[in-house]
Amino acid sequence: MKKLPIPTISFKTALSAAFDGMGSAAYRAEHETAFKTPEKIESHYSDRATMSELYNEPRIIGAADPIVLGALSKSQLTRLYTQYFVPQKKPARPLYEEIKVTANGKCPLCGDVGHVRTLDHYLPKSNFPVYSILPINLVPCCRDCNSEKLDAFANTVDQQTLHPYFDHDRFFSEKWISARVIRTTPPVVDYFVDAPARWQASDRSRVESHFREYRLGNRFSVEAAADLPETIHTRRTTMAKSSDEEFSGYLSEKSQTANLPINNWRRVMFTALAADEWFCNQTFIGV
Ligand SMILES: [Zn+2]
Repeated sequence: MKKLPIPTISFKTALSAAFDGMGSAAYRAEHETAFKTPEKIESHYSDRATMSELYNEPRIIGAADPIVLGALSKSQLTRLYTQYFVPQKKPARPLYEEIKVTANGKCPLCGDVGHVRTLDHYLPKSNFPVYSILPINLVPCCRDCNSEKLDAFANTVDQQTLHPYFDHDRFFSEKWISARVIRTTPPVVDYFVDAPARWQASDRSRVESHFREYRLGNRFSVEAAADLPETIHTRRTTMAKSSDEEFSGYLSEKSQTANLPINNWRRVMFTALAADEWFCNQTFIGV
């Protein structure tokens, strides 16, 4: 859950690069005719995204292959991405790479759990094929986020996951994920959505959807389970004689040190550990 700068590559630039990779002049002409006004398509998307209304976009459902834009069918439009945008040797590939690097390698959808490996269509290309290579619909993300969401799309305002280019800063700068410590051996960190009460209901529902859609609860708990032994080891060794308060202070500092995004699993984990009396009181001898 990290905000990203809006890609500066225009739809027009992306389309011409894709068209440059087409062997047949007639095929290219058919595409140029269909995409006469890419600026209009782009500004429409941008307006809708800014107002969190992309859920209202007309979509294509089912396996049929209807004509969607000009003379172009759904499958022709999705091929713009798979055959003319992604393949290594195509002239549009550098644009694909350029969009991918804007996230600095860290996935914006899971807030740094995964490394960026691919681009995700915010509106899936099979349902919204006109946007298959619209740069502002392409979000750099990790493989897990890409496969969790695969072709899911929202039908209501509440179901919309966060859009790293367009959504309001509040989603990226305010804390909406918390965790509790489950007092087992070993302890388990359990994550949940806890959005600020002053947020409007639809925003609160949207972060719930984002959390659910990308299975952040499970994925964060797995990360925490792998990380926790190091903290427990510290408690048993260098901090064995520290008071509960000192240990809590140490954990609290850990939550701040790495300058992690506010809802990052590690930051949320250390905040929860520092606040948990039982955890801070444990010496973990024999664990
Ligand atoms: Zn991810």
